[in-house]
Amino acid sequence: MTQLLEEIKRRRTFAIISHPDAGKTTITEKVLLYGHALQTAGTVKGKKSGQHAKSDWMDMEKERGISVTTSVMQFPYSDHLINLLDTPGHEDFSEDTYRTLTAVDSCLMVIDAAKGVEDRTRKLMEVTRLRDTPIITFMNKLDRDIRDPMELLDEVETELNIACAPVTWPIGCGKQFKGVYHIHRDEVMLYQSGQGHTIQDVRIIKGLNNPEVDAAVGDGLAAEFRDELELVMGASNEFDQELFLAGEITPVFFGTALGNFGVDHMLDGLVAWAPQPQGRATDKGEIDSTDAKFSGFVFKIQANMDPKHRDRIAFCRIVSGKYEKGMKMRHTRIGKDVRISDALTFLAGDRSLLEEAYAGDIIGLHNHGSIRIGDTFSSGDDYRFTGIPNFAPELFKRIRLRDPLRQKQLQKGLIQLSEEGAVQVFRPLANNDLIVGAVGVLQFDVVVARLKAEYNVDALYEHVNVATARWVYSDSERKLDEFRRKAEQNLALDGGDNLTYVAPTMVNLQLAQERYPDIEFNTTREH
Ligand code: GDP
Repeated sequence: MTQLLEEIKRRRTFAIISHPDAGKTTITEKVLLYGHALQTAGTVKGKKSGQHAKSDWMDMEKERGISVTTSVMQFPYSDHLINLLDTPGHEDFSEDTYRTLTAVDSCLMVIDAAKGVEDRTRKLMEVTRLRDTPIITFMNKLDRDIRDPMELLDEVETELNIACAPVTWPIGCGKQFKGVYHIHRDEVMLYQSGQGHTIQDVRIIKGLNNPEVDAAVGDGLAAEFRDELELVMGASNEFDQELFLAGEITPVFFGTALGNFGVDHMLDGLVAWAPQPQGRATDKGEIDSTDAKFSGFVFKIQANMDPKHRDRIAFCRIVSGKYEKGMKMRHTRIGKDVRISDALTFLAGDRSLLEEAYAGDIIGLHNHGSIRIGDTFSSGDDYRFTGIPNFAPELFKRIRLRDPLRQKQLQKGLIQLSEEGAVQVFRPLANNDLIVGAVGVLQFDVVVARLKAEYNVDALYEHVNVATARWVYSDSERKLDEFRRKAEQNLALDGGDNLTYVAPTMVNLQLAQERYPDIEFNTTREH
């Protein structure tokens, strides 16, 4: 038991949220460098989007460089073990991103300090707020001319509605970037350019008023900096552990991921302050991470790299207890006990067979079709974890076969793809159409490519007059039946047979909502 508690205590499970190009990939490389998972930075493949929309699914996997191995990275840092969960960079896969955020206990928000708060960061922050996930902030690209740091903090505070507590403060920027002052340690850390690829010893000067600081950064700049810092300290918040854990205040670090400066300060903050693996809510109450019994939930399913085996990996976040090779766990949705001896782990970015794993870790389960997103595994008790959302799609197309004889395979393929979260499918009550709904446009191409490769189905899309969809629900069985009859023309079943209102226009949706006040129209649905 004490070993279990020790193992949990030393773990930190987090994800990086940022706008494209803010530096997520670069910072991931440096973090792995500190975790000794990489010898030199520059080996995590980029996943630049744009050129792959036409190629097939497996090639897309390769081109994007997102593989099973890079979507979860486990590495040691100081006395801790860190799980970094990658979120797809492309906005078309944002649903996946959202669900990945349910599997972490804290987030690193990376901001391009020349640009400030950008669109996608805003959206992702909204998602983290649903669970009050603690946020650490890294202001990146200090080797460039950035915006006024105080203004950046203001922007984070007003736009993202979270207080900022600077932990380091930059001394100059761009060509004049000299380093940072660590407010908590009262140390000046000096930046040297051109050292980005390896870990270098950084020169540290103890004490801001140490004359060595003047010698190192120049008399003028040092004096200016001391004045500036006085203003900053007067105007900004002090770090507070409780408020941080409540998601109300974020510690802020400055640096350059490319220059590999400041990333370790951030990691030190992460292991010192970010929470150890936390429990999760179930339909039968909260499961604590220190509960000795194993439990976990599936937040993501990914097609395997090996096209010969139509095998997929289900990513399971361990919520409590310990996984041991060969153990039996209960797949609670289907009420079956399964023995697992081939779960994957992701230590040091390498995929290898795993002997044991603890709460906070992610294990990869081979999925031959029985595992869906949101599924719970337990040590025998029947409950399910809640809070893993589906999002109402915003893009719709009718999907049609080139060869009409394969309708059954098409339907089967679509339902399986929807179970793993690749796309959503809607079957209208009033006709035999199959409507595909996506959150991002790239999903459509993925689906056609995978239908071809995995189900041997040639499908194509047609325009369909659908603007939006809502999952409908009512406390009153009678009202729901009545609604079902009256609105049949606009109702459909999704991949999991849930009733959905499919609206041709937003105005139509609005009218339906006014007309049927006893019906809930939901934009998210829990698995
Ligand atoms: P992502 O889209 O968020 O994963 O961003 P990347 O890590 O791919 O970075 C986007 C671009 O910004 C790349 O060209 C990086 O080399 C560059 N970049 C990342 N960090 C820094 C930095 O600290 N300074 C500068 N000057 N460029 C950076």
